[in-house]
Amino acid sequence: MFLIPRNVDILISWNSDRIAYSNPMKNRIVVGRHFLVLPEDQQSAIILHESAHLRLGHTAKRMKWLFKGKWRKLSELAHQQEFEADAVAAKYGHAPAMIDFLTHWPAEQSAFHPSTEERIARLEDHNG
Ligand SMILES: [Zn+2]
Repeated sequence: MFLIPRNVDILISWNSDRIAYSNPMKNRIVVGRHFLVLPEDQQSAIILHESAHLRLGHTAKRMKWLFKGKWRKLSELAHQQEFEADAVAAKYGHAPAMIDFLTHWPAEQSAFHPSTEERIARLEDHNG
């Protein structure tokens, strides 16, 4: 089941190596070419994850923290937001698909993304 929030556009970028990302300025989700070859349940999980970022205003919250000078906590907030977006996908029954996706496309931990292992562990909690 594909759940797409109202007024959200989904664009395909053939040039992008990224799987997907959200653009809050334009209220859109951009998917890269690798997204197109994913199984449908994983595509749904990713769209739910990205639409959660948009709907929950995650970028605006980050900007607010940035302006308040909460530099050190910014990465903590970003990681929290990833878990929140994963939880939305899980809420709609897409935890197994998200786990499959993360297993095949693991990402390095960064300032903005928690480790793949930790995301999977939390999704498994939702799943149980
Ligand atoms: Zn995300």
